[in-house]
Amino acid sequence: MSRESLAQEIIEAGRFLYGRGWSPATSSNYSARLSASEALLTVSGKHKGQLGVDDVLATDLAGNSLEPGKKPSAETLLHTQLYRCRPEVGAVLHTHSVNATVLSRLTEGDRLVFEDYELQKAFSGVVTHESRVVVPIFDNDQDIARLALKVQPWLDQHPDCAGYLIRGHGLYTWGAKMSDALRQIEAFEFLFECELKTMAVMNRQP
Ligand SMILES: [Zn+2]
Repeated sequence: MSRESLAQEIIEAGRFLYGRGWSPATSSNYSARLSASEALLTVSGKHKGQLGVDDVLATDLAGNSLEPGKKPSAETLLHTQLYRCRPEVGAVLHTHSVNATVLSRLTEGDRLVFEDYELQKAFSGVVTHESRVVVPIFDNDQDIARLALKVQPWLDQHPDCAGYLIRGHGLYTWGAKMSDALRQIEAFEFLFECELKTMAVMNRQP
């Protein structure tokens, strides 16, 4: 796909994710693969419901801007590491929803495990509710290079991983196409809300 059409996909993803309340207050960042060695990412600090064609920039897969004057998002490395280690990945989405934030803060362990939800089939490669979707939770860190080093071993050891949470911060998920990543964001948000509602009804902590 051309840079123009990938930029348009990112703009439309931003409108959708902001509209759902999952990318408030200029938070979040989105990307698409431009080539085997380049990605197209949202620039830092823009309102995600109002992105324009100039609000994306090309980077190499080490996270360096290829467009002088444009500043990559602080979390660029968390996108580019996925393009580096997963050749099949064509889009990465990162959001800051209320449910991802609250559930990751309430969970004391280092992962969430979803079982017996029909919607698990929305994740690429999952064909039955009789499966386990494991979502690791990494502690938040303003040092993104250090955080990326903690994420990498999990990605290496779990080729079927569909996404991960950063505690008190948000969700990362990805897919072969932007539509796959968007479907997985919706599925994760559905599962997070189910867990939180169940906890509220049962008056329990995860
Ligand atoms: Zn973030």
